[in-house]
Amino acid sequence: MQNTCLDSKLMQEDTSILVIYTGGTIGMQQDLETGALVPVNFDNISREIPALEGYHYNIDSCSFDTPIDSSDMNPYEWVGIARIIEAKYEDYDGFVVLHGSDTMAYTASALSFMLENLNKPVVFTGSQLPMGMLRSDGRDNFIASILIAGEKIDNTPRVPEVVIYFENMLFRANRTFKYNAENFLAFRSGNYPHLAHAGINIAYNDEYIRKPNFKKLIVHKELETNVAVLYLYPGIQPALVNAVLETEGLKGVVMKAFGAGNAPTAQWFLDSIRRAVARGIQIVSVSQCPEGKVEPGKYQASLELKKAGVVGGKDITTESALAKMMYLLGRQFGKDAFSSLFETSLRGEMSS
Ligand code: ASP
Repeated sequence: MQNTCLDSKLMQEDTSILVIYTGGTIGMQQDLETGALVPVNFDNISREIPALEGYHYNIDSCSFDTPIDSSDMNPYEWVGIARIIEAKYEDYDGFVVLHGSDTMAYTASALSFMLENLNKPVVFTGSQLPMGMLRSDGRDNFIASILIAGEKIDNTPRVPEVVIYFENMLFRANRTFKYNAENFLAFRSGNYPHLAHAGINIAYNDEYIRKPNFKKLIVHKELETNVAVLYLYPGIQPALVNAVLETEGLKGVVMKAFGAGNAPTAQWFLDSIRRAVARGIQIVSVSQCPEGKVEPGKYQASLELKKAGVVGGKDITTESALAKMMYLLGRQFGKDAFSSLFETSLRGEMSS
């Protein structure tokens, strides 16, 4: 098992937060030989945050045995994070997951689907500069995430959902994508308002934050990984489309369509899609645009897809669509149930 809790205690008090350290830039150091950034263990990070010692929180930590760059994150590790949260759910008021920013939107989206009836905060954060560097954004991101994970109104968590906190902004995780590899504000939520902004105070937009349902947590760990993302572009060739759609064992495809969900109307393309649907492959269209939504049938160029059985992903992000597809296929719903559940907002991932 790659991720075991080391249970190192950082502080004692009444609000309890579990920090799950997976790796990412926040915990990296420069390799003296190669100059490349490599993940290091959690003790090196916690040493950088003496500021936390002044807060009244009980903070425990738990770390991947081998912290990783998030480029190496896979559904296997997502399940590992979900297992930790499941095992420790009753013991903590909230969770902070330290994770690389590159694939954070995928992991956090996946966790949002896997954790049904989540009634506690799961705050993903990381940084663009390692914690050990003088100008690191890691300290602020980490400390604010702890505060958000512990924030309550009337003894009820204020943010009972999976979120991403980066550079003063709190977003619903399954609405985000990484859009900047240089700025401290690395994430954007194109189709949903931010949930909070941290200035002198943390200003919460409570009307956009999910409400707790007080039901028992259910953790779904079956994810179908035989899925693909098919990015359409002018000049795309039959051989490439067919190579993707005829991949052995393929169960689902997220098709990154043009604009409002449009695709080539060429006969060969539509035939390939129809053949794949007839073989039982679930195809969902999402937009290549970071804002706005797919509207099946608005144009002739999407009407045929709709008739062929392609499901419109509305304004969902690609990251979230992929995670939702793995989750729904993992639960082995039939074609009709899959389509109707995909078109329904399950965790606030799409507008109705
Ligand atoms: N490559 C790093 C990662 O995703 C980048 C980061 O953390 O910001 O692990």
